Amino acid sequence: MSAPINPRADLAALPAYVPGRSVPGAIKLASNEVPGGPLPSVADAISHALQEVNRYPDMGSQALTARLADELKVPESRIAIGCGSVSLCQQLVQAMCAPGEEVLYAWRSFEAYPIVTQVGNATSIKVPLDGTHTHDLAAMLAAITPKTRLIFVCNPNNPTGTAVRRRELASFLDAVPSDVLVVLDEAYREFVTDEEIPDGLEFVADRPNVAVLRTFSKAYGLAGLRVGYAVGHEDVVTALRKVYVAFSVNTLAQTAAIASLGAKDELLTRCSRIVEERGRVRTALIEAGFEVPETHANFVWLPLGERTVAFAEHALDRKVVVRPFAGDGVRVTVSTPDENDLFLEAARAFER
Ligand SMILES: *Cc1c(COP(=O)(O)O)cnc(C)c1O
Repeated sequence: MSAPINPRADLAALPAYVPGRSVPGAIKLASNEVPGGPLPSVADAISHALQEVNRYPDMGSQALTARLADELKVPESRIAIGCGSVSLCQQLVQAMCAPGEEVLYAWRSFEAYPIVTQVGNATSIKVPLDGTHTHDLAAMLAAITPKTRLIFVCNPNNPTGTAVRRRELASFLDAVPSDVLVVLDEAYREFVTDEEIPDGLEFVADRPNVAVLRTFSKAYGLAGLRVGYAVGHEDVVTALRKVYVAFSVNTLAQTAAIASLGAKDELLTRCSRIVEERGRVRTALIEAGFEVPETHANFVWLPLGERTVAFAEHALDRKVVVRPFAGDGVRVTVSTPDENDLFLEAARAFER
């Protein structure tokens, strides 16, 4: 008689992978991607790199690390490259937490946090967002225990788009115990225009317990290639490199990231068009009677509560794919003017 295969019992609590519904002819505003494909210079670099795919990638992503060090004016020893910043989130849990130690984050926030925490055998402590859908930093401080090892602050927050300001973040960091690592997840940094929202790198230089996460998936348009990075204290970076899945950042991704930094101005110009559209979309939604928190990212949040799923289905009937978080709200990516208009038309027709 053969014994059953029993994966870890606690994994039963994690959702199994369900392939996303693909709707022919629909526009996809569900994943916060930018609408444009790679720039010609980036596509060229990728096709050159294709010639080397019989070789393993550079395990240390040395050229990209050096390029980023130059770009960000930080030593290479403070930069860890990862297979998307989602992978770095998981590495951070693995690098910081013994089994049962605590990872603290706001909720609702990035859907990867609970997953990487559980996969890493750590315990999630979720602190509700405040009434304006923003991080409640005071409540987060109060939730710190002797077991807390890691705090994610997603700024701007996915999926609500709200952000915490320099002064409140600085006093939060002053109050967090020095042996607790605060990770500022800045996946949407390039869409921030409000100067009171700090660049997390301001804090990394003189605070060993702060790290910043950035990605090439959003503003830089490389979601399909999987590359992001962390900037933090040398000891944190060394630990991140230890738990890195060998060779997981592939050659095409490393090359494309370097080429994208070379085309930074052009790519950031694209972002500024999305920022303009963001204002237009939000205003139109408010005029149509929706509540829409102020957003600093490339998406808007509609806190529709129990009407969330109905809204998403209504949009899908009109061939617009949005991202529902059942019972809570809908996140919609800001795209080109045409696609945004299709979404707005669908939203205005929603029976409330
Ligand atoms: C999209 C996103 C990321 C980036 O993920 P990648 O793995 O780099 O594609 C990280 N954090 C947040 C909050 C995001 O929304």
